[in-house]
Amino acid sequence: PQLINQIAAGEVIERPASVVKELVENAFDAGARQIELDIEQGGARLIRIRDDGCGIDREDLGLALSRHATSKIASLEDLERVASMGFRGEALPSISSVARLTLTSRTGDAPCGWQVSADGSESDFDIQPAQHAQGTTVEVRDLFYNTPARRKFLRAEKTEFGHVQTLVQRMALARFDVGFALRHNQREVLRLRAGGEDTDRAERIGALCGPDFLEQSLRVDFESCGLRLHGWVGLPTFSRSQGDLQFFYVNRRLIRDKLVGHAIRQAYQDVMYHQRQPVYVLYLEIDPALVDVNAHPAKLEVRFREGRMVHDFLFSALHRSIAGHKPGQTAV
Ligand code: ADP
Ligand code: MG
Repeated sequence: PQLINQIAAGEVIERPASVVKELVENAFDAGARQIELDIEQGGARLIRIRDDGCGIDREDLGLALSRHATSKIASLEDLERVASMGFRGEALPSISSVARLTLTSRTGDAPCGWQVSADGSESDFDIQPAQHAQGTTVEVRDLFYNTPARRKFLRAEKTEFGHVQTLVQRMALARFDVGFALRHNQREVLRLRAGGEDTDRAERIGALCGPDFLEQSLRVDFESCGLRLHGWVGLPTFSRSQGDLQFFYVNRRLIRDKLVGHAIRQAYQDVMYHQRQPVYVLYLEIDPALVDVNAHPAKLEVRFREGRMVHDFLFSALHRSIAGHKPGQTAV
């Protein structure tokens, strides 16, 4: 199974940031409200993530590290309307086949926590009692230690940590209700408190996208025909010198899509922002039955069942929101 897991790992685990993505998604799925991340040497040496989610039972700890042992799909119907993001039961076994992984967890009703370590070769897991608050800690050490060819592809520490930061930014923009802390080589890089209030959201946007984006953007919130679009759109006065600021989430999942990009550009240009690349952090809420997100777990692809309808909705939602707003004016 180690070889199979390593092959599977090749698909999903490219670099430290891909490990972080899988682990943060698991924490989301577990209902975490607070996620703490410790990274060392860009993640090559250590990735540790701690959450306060539901935890894993002693009986399920070994299972969690076994291939296709997802707890998230009970039926085919679930698979079709899968709302949780991870669903294939491959992440943990894949990661443990290319790194030294330790899982420590405690469920709410358990008197103590339990810990299991795996380096990919075990099939019988040694489970030991361990101190832990409710929730889960996953520790991933020495990524690619046993696959030197892949380890060679890791970039400089700074570059790899940059990817981790970008990833955390994306994830944090997806879940305002979850608090985040990120440390690199024991230095705190980011701390975001959990909050559902409007002011908390604005604060997070400021922290992640820059205070000037927050000041020079327009709040959008538009609903029609069961679709809702909300978020922030940059005004023409906002110019970003570097990096892209184009985040589009469908049901809290970041995607990149031609049709979406086209609709946004059209609305932008049609109203006033001809000369600029649109900048935005936008959230589309749509019936999950109308969108297929399972195209590829590691990619940002999505398939809309009614693309034309979605396109027209996005265009008119943005068009109306922006049209009511004169260029040069700051958002209210
Ligand atoms: P998947 O997320 O696709 O189910 P994973 O390999 O990522 O597969 O995780 C396997 C299983 O381990 C999950 O289905 C879940 O039951 C459990 N698990 C993993 N991470 C956590 C976590 N942070 N909190 C609670 N359970 C977890
Ligand atoms: Mg998962």
